[in-house]
This record gives sequence, C-alpha cells and structure tokens, in this order.
Amino acid sequence: MIMEVTIDRELCIGCAICVKQCPKGYELDDELIAVVISTSAPGIMETEEACPVGAITITGEPEEIPVLDKVEPLIKVDDSRDVWVFAEQRDGKLAKVALQLLGRARDLADELKQNVVAVLIGNNIDNLAKELIGYQADTVYVANDERLNDYQTLPYTTIITDLIKKYKPNIFLYGATFIGRDLAPRISQRVKTGLTADCTKLTIEEDTGLLDQTRPAFGGNIMATIQTPDHRPQMATVRPGIMKVKPFDPERSGEIISVTPDLEGNDLIAKIIEVAKDSRTKINLEEAKIIVSGGRGVGSKEGFGVLEELAELLGAEVGGSRVAVESGYIEQDHQVGQTGKTVAPELYIACGISGSIQHRAGMSTSKIIVAINKDPDAQILTVSDYAIVGDLHEVVPLITRELKKRGLGGL
Ligand code: FAD
Ligand code: SF4
Repeated sequence: MIMEVTIDRELCIGCAICVKQCPKGYELDDELIAVVISTSAPGIMETEEACPVGAITITGEPEEIPVLDKVEPLIKVDDSRDVWVFAEQRDGKLAKVALQLLGRARDLADELKQNVVAVLIGNNIDNLAKELIGYQADTVYVANDERLNDYQTLPYTTIITDLIKKYKPNIFLYGATFIGRDLAPRISQRVKTGLTADCTKLTIEEDTGLLDQTRPAFGGNIMATIQTPDHRPQMATVRPGIMKVKPFDPERSGEIISVTPDLEGNDLIAKIIEVAKDSRTKINLEEAKIIVSGGRGVGSKEGFGVLEELAELLGAEVGGSRVAVESGYIEQDHQVGQTGKTVAPELYIACGISGSIQHRAGMSTSKIIVAINKDPDAQILTVSDYAIVGDLHEVVPLITRELKKRGLGGL
C-alpha cells in the first residue's frame, strides 16, 4: 500500500513542529497550516507522533527510493584549475552581478592560489574585456561575433561548453539572472557536473579546497551547504546584490584572448525576429541601497503613498511582502522574499510586515533593518536592528517630515 500523509486542517494549530522535525516533508501555507511537500522525506514517519494535536495521519509504507546511477565525470578534479565567471552583458553594458561575482571570485582564487578568468560573449564588446580586468579578471576569453548580438541559449551554451572542455575550470560562477538561470543548467548537463542555484554564500573548505555553496533551503528554514566533490567545474548561480564589487583598478593588467566561436547549424536554429523591451519603469530591488517595504499592515494601494514619499526622499526603491502583492497594493516585481527577490541593501525599512520566514529569506542579509510595526511581538522585530512600535501611517510620515526638516536624503 502506497504511503499517504494527511493533515487535518481543522486540528492543525500551525506550531511548525512537523516542519522543524522534517523540513523536507512539510511547510506552512499562507494560512499557517501545515502542508505535505514530500512523503518520502527522511523523518516523516516520526512526525505523526510529534504533532501535539494529532493533526497528522500516516497510512501505508514508505516507497523505496531508487538509487540513481552515478554520472562519470567528464573533467578530472586534479586536471581542473582557476575560478571562472560568466561576464554577462546586455546592449554592451556589463551586468553588475558579473562584477560582483568577479569580486568574490578574486577572494576564492587567492585562497586557492589560482587565477580569475572571465568569459565575455556578444557583438562589439571588445571594450568590455579591459573593464573586466580592472574588476579583477586575470584572463578574459572574448567571443565577439555579429551572430551573438542578442543572447541566445544554444550558441552561448556551445561556446562556454567548448571552453570548459578545453581549459577545465575548477569553479564556474553565473549570476542568477534570467540569462544565467537559462544558461547554467544546460552547461552543467553538457559537461556532466552539478549546479547549485541561488547561492548566498561561497567559501572554500579549508581541508579539502572544495567550494562550499550555501543557499537557503526548505522555505528558508535552513541554510544548506552543498559541495561538488567529484565533478568539475563546481558550478553555482548567485543572486544579484549579494556579493560585493571590488573597486575598479585601471592599472591592473591581464590577458585578453579572442575566441572564434565554433557554431554549427543546430546552434543557430532560433531566429530572433523582434526584441520587445518591457516599457514599464524598471525597478531594481536587488541593487538598491535603501528599500522601503510594505506589507499587509499598509492596508491599501493608496496606503503605499506614504512609503513612496519616504522612498523618494531617500532615493530608495519600494518593496512589498507577498500579501501586499496578492492584495493588489503593489506590483509583483516589487515582492521581496522566497518567491520574490533576494535583496541586500544597506538599509531595509519594513513597514507593516510581520517577518514570516519566507519574507526574511529574501531580506535578512540587509545591513541595517528597521521595523515599523504595531505589534511589539511581531517576528520581524527579532531580526531588526531598530524597531518602532506604532502605526506606520503615523510613524512613516513623521520620519519623512523630520528628514525633510533636517535636509537629509539618500545614502
Ligand atoms: P502579515 O503577516 O499579515 O503581517 C502584517 C503585519 O502588519 C503584522 O505584523 C501587523 O502587526 C502589522 N500591522 C498591521 N497594521 C499596521 C499598522 N497600521 N502599522 C504598523 N504595523 C501594522 N511572503 C513574502 O513576503 N515573500 C515571499 O516571497 C513569500 N513566499 C512564500 C512562499 C511560500 C511557499 C509560502 C507558503 C508563503 C510565502 N510568503 C511570502 C507568504 C508568507 O508566509 C506570509 O504570509 C507573508 O510574508 C505575510 O505578509 P505580511 O507580513 O505583509 O502580512
Ligand atoms: Fe500542524 Fe501538527 Fe504540523 Fe503543528 S505539528 S504544524 S499542529 S500538523
């Protein structure tokens, strides 16, 4: 009989004991009621007894999980070296995340006594190679070709795969952008290695020299550190705004190597007919220095007006919780959190946000967190550096007025 796990929603009090005991098996939904996410999660059998109100019923036996065949590495660990970065560019401008990755790559490479290598692909982009060297690349491979004017998955994948097979990088980092998220999994499949998505921390394990790839897992309940011991390169994507850019050094020298892309018919089957740019005003939460964010407590779309006024004065972006988005107070691309954006500003002002684990998963690495909340026991206060207990509709206009009076603005 196949195992079934059922939750009695009437009985569940949302204590999250099952989630803590078996984070791979359960999560809490929007109504803070437990839901089953995997019946084969380790430890799930014990949760029936652990639930204090008897809300969990388990019937049948757990399924046997088949062991997958091990994939033979294409590149040997001992043959690999150097820390590589995909230098994403659009319209001839380097993505900030590429520079952030170069900064981190420098630290990792120095620790390993290896070099930093950047891969730059596009059309008329030769001038960017020098910039990459100033931002810590020791070598830049440049594939400059008019067929590469716009990003396309297949030719980019082929060019990078060929470079990996030839030069055998130890580590390869990509921004977790639309392009990086499209490209990195295909490359990992072609070169038979793993990929850790959305890392928030990258360090070198002292004894082994392996890359520790850390990312939030199971709804931000835990931070998982993942290693790729047997396959190369060790590949990770990193969300924009998390790593720090090192200052540009115009005196740095490095090697620029031109690559002739070896593209065949299949790589070029997709034809771009039109590029339609999103005409909405772009918000840039991931790179914002200050974010004024609102939740359910803001109460309405119009209520966001006080947040927008403060944000304008501070030169900040406006963010929101998922509830604020779902209630129609603010657009989806402003959402911060596990299913929204990961942000790391200097200052995050959370107004009328309770601080659920899913919201904190996207903002807890902010340098300074200020919480404005009516409830002195709100969870957000446990991660905030400063807390103002009060009605945001009184507190926020007061802050704006005071800042204006003192002639203060953005960072
Ligand atoms: P609430 O939890 O209702 O909190 C409102 C807060 O406002 C309260 O603390 C209250 O005291 C305060 N308040 C009310 N009125 C005022 C006032 N006038 N002045 C000051 N304070 C006031 N949530 C996210 O935010 N981002 C995500 O990416 C996300 N992803 C999710 C993914 C999954 C799989 C799930 C299950 C949930 C996810 N959620 C996410 C939802 C999350 O669980 C919470 O429901 C949500 O974050 C709560 O939003 P909130 O803090 O705005 O609302
Ligand atoms: Fe609900 Fe029981 Fe899980 Fe607590 S342990 S969240 S009561 S199912």
